[in-house]
Amino acid sequence: MSQKPAIFLDRDNTLIHDDGHIYEIEKFAWINGAAAALKRFHEANIPVFIVTNQGGIGRGIFSEDQMHQFNNHIIAAANKAGGLITDIAFCPHHPLSPDPAMAIACGCRKPEPGLLFKLAQKWEIDLSASVMIGDRDSDVEAGRRAGAKSYLFIQNNLDDLAKQVMSTHFPIKIGKTHA
Ligand SMILES: [Mg+2]
Repeated sequence: MSQKPAIFLDRDNTLIHDDGHIYEIEKFAWINGAAAALKRFHEANIPVFIVTNQGGIGRGIFSEDQMHQFNNHIIAAANKAGGLITDIAFCPHHPLSPDPAMAIACGCRKPEPGLLFKLAQKWEIDLSASVMIGDRDSDVEAGRRAGAKSYLFIQNNLDDLAKQVMSTHFPIKIGKTHA
């Protein structure tokens, strides 16, 4: 069994705009360069995963179903753009949830690394060869704790960072021209 590297992406304000607890499809909008970045990763044949804290579920702001519908819209939009999102892992918990079962100190809410571990196990991913990208320190920390290289997204365009990540960690392999 050979393990492969992957790209782990935060969802809100890394891939898509979020003014706070977004779940309505009509509000969907890519972050600058996000569609191009997804296409770039897919063309390089690197699996892409979303790891996202969705505490709005625990807080009762939207349902898990509504989140899935919204995520399916993102997946479809990614396909349309020439990208591929292989899987999405989410944390529904939130410390302020009125439901004690949802207010637990879980292992999946970033900066905890649980979402990355879950996907790595399911898809046979080598975390030490993988990259995590997100707009918050908690994203970077989750990636770090999972053993991945981690980048804080502070550029205005996600594809600018994607180019940097690709050239640093996934340089194009030139085939041998002779034996
Ligand atoms: Mg974010």
